Amino acid sequence: MEQKILQKDQIAKLYIELSEEYNIYAPVKEKGNIVFKKISNSDQIELDYLNSKIPPKEVLFPQMEVLFEYKLDGKDVEIIDRQDLDEKILLFGVRPCDAYSFELVGNFFKAHGNWEDEIYLKKKENTTIIGMGCNSPRTTCFCTSVGGHPFQKDYIDLFLTDLGDKYLVEGISDKGKEIMQKLSWLSDAKEADVKKSEELAKQAEESFTTKFNFDLVTKVLGENFENPVWEEISESCIGCGSCTFLCPTCTCFDVIEENDKYNNRGRRIRIWDTCQSCLYTLETSGHNPRPDKIQRCRNRIMHKFSYYPENYNCLGCVGCGRCIQACPVNNELRIIIDKILEIEKEEDEKAVA
Ligand code: SF4
Ligand code: SF4
Repeated sequence: MEQKILQKDQIAKLYIELSEEYNIYAPVKEKGNIVFKKISNSDQIELDYLNSKIPPKEVLFPQMEVLFEYKLDGKDVEIIDRQDLDEKILLFGVRPCDAYSFELVGNFFKAHGNWEDEIYLKKKENTTIIGMGCNSPRTTCFCTSVGGHPFQKDYIDLFLTDLGDKYLVEGISDKGKEIMQKLSWLSDAKEADVKKSEELAKQAEESFTTKFNFDLVTKVLGENFENPVWEEISESCIGCGSCTFLCPTCTCFDVIEENDKYNNRGRRIRIWDTCQSCLYTLETSGHNPRPDKIQRCRNRIMHKFSYYPENYNCLGCVGCGRCIQACPVNNELRIIIDKILEIEKEEDEKAVA
């Protein structure tokens, strides 16, 4: 594999070259948080960060999105489709867990019989990801427990490793290799640079303190839909939905219609929704299949670690730890998983006694 070096003071040059072809979305500082935004100059880029508050999923699946607009003429309706879906998007500085999350979100948007979400899929097709290894995973990160790695390159087109004063650059996909070829001014990497990147990857892997056996979690969940543990798990939850709104793999949305009757026009909008809201499953009849927080908390955990593996043969979580950090009442995933595994431990102890 060809490896090159990008000096940190060459980021501006890189931006100028890439912005000729792409709309660039990069981590920027906003109100004290790191978020992915469309940038208009390289000074906005903030690469010295652990991970963004809101995942880059928001670029392809925004919190609020107009699906289409329409005009009314008597009984005739003219649909005005989106004109911006051919935009070439470059996501810059994405962490490996978030790069992988696009695959999981894509499973949802493409795998429902004849139904496909053309808007998400078209944007994804037009997206190139420049990813960056995690030299210092957070204590709340657990990507290695869900099949990932802080230096996983599989879902990234061009991979950067922060070597201190410079980045090691590796073209991973065909798209990434093509970009590398265009950046002819990058210098060649030395053996010592590659060795250093390998050491950083090893150190990062060894630094994880949160580790789970999710095969066991999935098995226990499959056998304990009705277990009283759900009451305990949901007791402190206030249903704020932060754990789902900040999750890079959550895909629930609501669709609303904005009808401007005065001007004979309107638009259809989708907005993020959350299974943690009591209104989420409320049916028109007044029946609610998940009326209490017990069912709603159970649904979130079951969805990620039981239903998702059943439907797609992989976990519905990338181990980013955002839900752990976000929960205002510390009803966090690590504690929940421990409680679930406790069920198995108690069963084993009973069997021995
Ligand atoms: S469930 Fe939590 S740790 Fe897993 S991807 Fe979602 S926010 Fe990240
Ligand atoms: S962030 Fe915590 S309190 Fe809010 S819905 Fe999720 S588990 Fe409940």
